[in-house]
Parts: sequence; structure tokens; C-alpha cells
Amino acid sequence: MRILVVEDEKKIANFIKRGLKEEGYAVDAAEDGEQGYFMATTQDYDLIVLDLMLPKMDGLTLCRKLHEMGCPPMGRPPVLILTAKDTVKDKVSGLDSGADDYITKPFAFEEFLARVRALLRKREGSASTKLTAGELTLDLVTHKVSRGGKEIELTAKEYALLEYFMRNAGTCVTRTMISEHVWDMNFDSFTNVIDVYVNYLRKKLDNGPGKKLIQTVRGRGYILKG
Ligand code: CA
Repeated sequence: MRILVVEDEKKIANFIKRGLKEEGYAVDAAEDGEQGYFMATTQDYDLIVLDLMLPKMDGLTLCRKLHEMGCPPMGRPPVLILTAKDTVKDKVSGLDSGADDYITKPFAFEEFLARVRALLRKREGSASTKLTAGELTLDLVTHKVSRGGKEIELTAKEYALLEYFMRNAGTCVTRTMISEHVWDMNFDSFTNVIDVYVNYLRKKLDNGPGKKLIQTVRGRGYILKG
């Protein structure tokens, strides 16, 4: 899952970025509203974390503009507003501008993460905190992954890649789709890093006698068959 963080306070931006990356999310950051708007309309994000008080374009204006656009095909990504303000009026105007949820600074990172997960689930139209595909299970809260009840240890990036595969189980995902949702904007499309990570995952998931779960679709990408 790829997240855009629009926040001008470097300390907070870095804190959020680091925390999200540790959880396996791909994160891009924008330091002002104009840059945030540009990135949000040119890249395919799964979620936007948006500060309200921003230079160049304030968060509410940005949110309203995104809302008006609609951003097909997956629909506009959910927006989580980050603000120092916690008055009812501010919350109402944020929600009226198309924001999906709020968190007031300062906040506990655990709560922030729970809200991020909830918005991503809502976007998927699922209430479950677990993903399953055949005998594979992935817990979105604890990050525990198991196959046939046997736990599998994954790195943050391997986990993120598997999560993306599982969210799209049974359908072919291209390398471009993977790069847009699992890697951040520094992704270098001239490397074979995706194939390298797919092989890491295969070694951990498919090393038993059972069915091979991650299959190559020649010339297109990969498919996870549960
Ligand atoms: Ca700010």
C-alpha cells in the first residue's frame, strides 16, 4: 500500500514516514499543498495523510479539489487529516471538504496506524483485519503470516509485497502495478528489484511440497493463486 504524506513540519513528517515504512508501507512525502496536490493527481496512492496548515495551498483546499476531481479508476484515495486543531467547527469543515477521518496532533502512533488500517479496509470494502488466500493467512494488525498454520517470517518489504498480492489474489498483477503500490516514488524501473523480492517471497512461501502460490504470467507479471 502506498501512502502520500503532506506535512510541512519536518519532524512530524519524518516521524510518520519512518513509522509507516517500518510497517511495510511505501511512503512519499510532500512539504507544501501545491506539491501535495501535484503528487496526489499524478500518482496512484492508496491513502493520503494531510496536514491542514500548509504553505502554498492549505489542506482543506487541497482536500476539496481532490474531492471534486473524483480521481478514477479506483476512486479518490481516502484522506486522513492531521491537525493541531480539534474544534468541532474545524472537524466539520474538514469532513465537508471530503476528508474521511481525523487525528489531532499530538497523537500516539498506534492510534494513527489503526486509523490508517481502518481507512484502507474501508476502501477495500472489507471489515476484516485478516486476508486469506487458500491456506495463506495474513494478519493486517500483527503482521503475522502463515501458510497451513505454519508461521512465516517476512521482512517489511516482503510483507508489503505479499499483502499486495493477497489483496489482488487470483488476478494478474503487473510489475508496474506492484511498483506503484509497494514501492515509493524513488523506485527505479530499470532494476529487477521486484523480481528479486518475488523470489525472496517464493523461497519463504513455496519451499514446501505444496502447490506453488506465486506464479509467473509470462510477459505480464505475477499471479497469486490461493
Ligand atoms: Ca503544518
